Parts: sequence; structure tokens; C-alpha cells
Amino acid sequence: MTQPSAADTGSAIAPKARFAGVSKRFGSGPGAVQALEPIDLDIAPNAFVCLLGPSGCGKSTLLNILAGFEEATTGTVTMDGAPVRGPDARRGVVFQQGALFTWMNVLENVAFGPLACGRQRAEAEATAMRFLDMVGLSAFAKRYPYELSGGMQQRVGIARALANDPEILLMDEPFAALDAQTRELLQEQIKRIWIDTRKTILWITHSIEEALFLATDIVVMSARPGRIKARFAPGFAGSTDPTLVTQPEFVRLKAEIFGLLREEALAAQHQEDAR
Ligand code: ADP
Ligand code: MG
Repeated sequence: MTQPSAADTGSAIAPKARFAGVSKRFGSGPGAVQALEPIDLDIAPNAFVCLLGPSGCGKSTLLNILAGFEEATTGTVTMDGAPVRGPDARRGVVFQQGALFTWMNVLENVAFGPLACGRQRAEAEATAMRFLDMVGLSAFAKRYPYELSGGMQQRVGIARALANDPEILLMDEPFAALDAQTRELLQEQIKRIWIDTRKTILWITHSIEEALFLATDIVVMSARPGRIKARFAPGFAGSTDPTLVTQPEFVRLKAEIFGLLREEALAAQHQEDAR
């Protein structure tokens, strides 16, 4: 069922990031929530890892621990072998929506990171323009976030994260708030960006198709407390073939992952009902 995967431990290459026995409990006493069971997960350099799992299974918690926003209850998270102790510019985060500075124009939003790192304004703005160009928004540099559609705002968010030249991009359901057509276009764009930059990416999504289309590695999580239920290495990440989604292997994997997720969604529903 589970195929060998670059996200697996045991790969010869040193991982870019490693979760070793990482669990998370929120609160204490009878009201405590065990969000994650101990998780072992290696993220290889240049991997595009997609996390799939039912709502509330701990996906965001796992990402937030690597981002340095949350502390693990047990275990360690390392990046290039060094423990994660808090947020760091080497890990760029793209949020679901609304994370732009509303009082800054698009260019200022994207140049903010490089400026904060001590770059000269001209250099920071040149960097910002390069990444706005990459997401197809250089013509909107002087616009303000409220003047942009949701999809454009997300592209600015991606450009802003890339402008800091992070080694890992962390994206928590970045396209969840977008309509289906916008989402498909952005999936194609993020795929191109990954092919061009080979950034290591950890991506959370609810969409099996999105994960199959983008990921080098898919990690399927169980209902809470989150565990790794299965891993796949789909092998479509490098392909820009528009007929990809109709290929027999794509369709077969989609059905298999759908079955796994359905079991976990039902388990999560039973947990809700029992409360
Ligand atoms: P997912 O992203 O998979 O939907 P989360 O990681 O957001 O799941 O949450 C996992 C579980 O941990 C959920 O039951 C959620 O209610 C709980 N949780 C998340 N953050 C907190 C918090 N700060 N305090 C208490 N419980 C939390
Ligand atoms: Mg979440």
C-alpha cells in the first residue's frame, strides 16, 4: 500500500527537516487535548510534502511546530540537524488568507522581509519585483491589498515568503479560501515555482487531487490524536502535463487515498458525536 517515499526516514540524504517523536498535548488535566501522537517524519531537501488528514487531526499543529510557533510536548524538530527554537527567516510561512499588511502596497509588503533583514531599499525592491514577476503580479506593485482579489492576495503572500529566500516554505491550506478555477491556476503556478526554485515545501491541503498534482510525498494522517497513517510518493510533481489528472496511476492513487481519508473522517465524526 505505502510506497517508498523521500519523506521517509532512512533516506541516504540528510533531511532538511526532521520530526523525531514529536507529540503535542494542549492544556492539562481532564480538559487536555492530545493533538498529536509521537510522529517521526523526515522532509528531504527539495521535497514537496503534502499533509492530508481530517479536520482537527493536528496538521496545523505539526506545521506550527516546525515554523517555531508552537512547542512540541515531547520529541524534537530539527532543521539541518539544529533544533527549532522559534520562528526563523529560513522557514517562510504562507497563511490561508489575510496575512498581508493592509496599510502597505504590494511592493512594500513583499520588500518588507528583505528590508527587515537589513537590505538597502533599492535592493529589497528589486528582489520584491523579481518575486512579484514570478507570481505574475509585477503590474500590481503599487496597488493595496484591498484592491486585489483573494487569489491575487495569496500570490502576494507567496511572493512575500519567497522574497525572504527561505529554505523551507510552510503553507497551511494556502488555497482553501479560493474558488475552484483560481485554485487550479494557482496550483499550476506553484508547481512551476517549485520546479524553478526546488524549495523544500510542507503544504497542508484537504484536496487529494491538489496533493497528487503537487507533491513528491504525501503524508496521510489519522483522526485525532494525529498519527501518520500512510505515505505515498506520487511522482507527478515534476510534470506540467495538463492530462495528468486522467492518468490511470493518478486516478488509482486518488481512489486509494480517498478510501483512507474517508475512514479517518468517519473516525473524527464519531469523536465529535461522542462529545
Ligand atoms: P488541523 O489543522 O488538522 O485541522 P489542528 O492542528 O488545528 O488540526 O488542531 C488539532 C487539535 O488540537 C484540534 O482538536 C484542536 O482543537 C486542538 N488545538 C489546536 N490548537 C489548540 C490550542 N491552542 N489550544 C487547545 N487546543 C488546540
Ligand atoms: Mg489546520
